[in-house]
Amino acid sequence: MTRDSAECGRLPDLLQRLGEHLDRYQRFEHDDAMRQYPQWQPALERPVPQQGVGIEQLLHELGHVLIPNASAIPNPGCTAFITTGATTAGALASLAGAVAAPQRIGLTAFNYLEELSLQWLADMFELPAHMKGVYSSGGSVANLVALGAARQWAFEQRGADPAQDGVDRPCRIYATEASHRTIHRAAAVLGLGRNAVVTIAADALGRMRPEALRQQLEQDAGLEAVPVAVVANAGTTSTGAIDPLREIGEIARAFSLWFHVDGAYGLPGILDPQVRPLYDGLALADSVIVDPHKWLGAPVGIGATFVRDRSILNRAFTQGASDYLEGSFSTADAQHSMDSPGIPYSDFGVELSAPSRGAVVWALIREIGIDGLHKRVCRHNAMARHLAKRAQAHPQLEVVQEPTLSICCFRFVAQEIDDLNEFNRRLHRRLVQAGRNIPSTAVINGVFSIRPCFVGARTGWEQADALVDEVIETGQRLLAEQSSLQKAQG
Ligand SMILES: *Cc1c(COP(=O)(O)O)cnc(C)c1O
Repeated sequence: MTRDSAECGRLPDLLQRLGEHLDRYQRFEHDDAMRQYPQWQPALERPVPQQGVGIEQLLHELGHVLIPNASAIPNPGCTAFITTGATTAGALASLAGAVAAPQRIGLTAFNYLEELSLQWLADMFELPAHMKGVYSSGGSVANLVALGAARQWAFEQRGADPAQDGVDRPCRIYATEASHRTIHRAAAVLGLGRNAVVTIAADALGRMRPEALRQQLEQDAGLEAVPVAVVANAGTTSTGAIDPLREIGEIARAFSLWFHVDGAYGLPGILDPQVRPLYDGLALADSVIVDPHKWLGAPVGIGATFVRDRSILNRAFTQGASDYLEGSFSTADAQHSMDSPGIPYSDFGVELSAPSRGAVVWALIREIGIDGLHKRVCRHNAMARHLAKRAQAHPQLEVVQEPTLSICCFRFVAQEIDDLNEFNRRLHRRLVQAGRNIPSTAVINGVFSIRPCFVGARTGWEQADALVDEVIETGQRLLAEQSSLQKAQG
């Protein structure tokens, strides 16, 4: 009998070569994956192989077929969405965990970091000491877990247990139009229904109007529906706006409602002293989420939910006793790392098996410290403000939404353009095709905007100017093309 794969001892060599491929990729001298499609697609399109190719050929295919045809997102000029490439520290810790830390069960050094890193996040983002966390795959699940806690709490207040018996009454969740759509999906998954999400009016910046919330709650007070949560944003996805957390939190308190703060993107913004006051009231939250795989530069797959009492999570999400685990480990008399499951993370959310996300978050913070993260967040916020200033100063640019954090929504304008939305849509397509500066777009109060979001660890100061320059240049070229077309036609 031989083992499946005898690569033990070869790891250093394999990793060295993988590292070289990844290093080349990160120079972004290769063409876009879509343009290379005719080359790599036939190389991949095969039926399930009867015989394996072995680790050498596999590494060859990783290095020559996959990696050079991978995502443009880690490119420092890519400022689309709120997503970025992992930092090297995050990638290394993730790889180490993949090899050495399957499962959150057992008292290992990796698992120790699960709680420690959650605590570090809570400390760094100034959450109250009683707030404890749990990791999940990202903001979607982090919101689901938080709203699952809210549902549990709201029903328990009324003498019911929704985790056990289901939801037998209509429910309501209060949020603005700017809230992430995963709030609606969480409502659907939790059996409340998407229609449970009631839209509260917002101001021109997309921030919830506390008075509108109060009015809605007063109006709903006589209804049979269970008010489950108020959802505020600490950094909306479109524009980075931060809701007035203190006012909203106080209203939630007054109406005995769970107060959830979605800081998937924006929570790290609290590290920038210029915007820190906007987080006033965060301490009133019953739950808060943050995505380390956004601004902190973790590899994708890491979100965190913090709640004021993890026993609510346990009641909401426990999988219950299971025969297949009975007697597998000792908690009282731990003598081996396989003993002592410690904190039952798998009962605080929807995942049993999970990677070691704690080690990744630990690595990100350990590498550069709060100082390093503070500098990164401040740089990105300053870039958005700098971009806004340049746009204000240029006759052919217009700021659509003043930045709060590291997003600046702007557009190209000129007298001779009839349909500005259509023009900017075309301009954006040109940017994407050129592939140097790749922002995403957002429609804000009906205005189609170019929307860079600076979150990449490798996204340097020069990227803000590079983007503005390219937008001006591309807009002017589009205008020239338009006028020569008009001349030709008329
Ligand atoms: C990105 C985002 C989410 C969803 O997070 P994923 O990690 O993509 O699942 C939720 N809320 C806000 C505010 C976000 O920006």
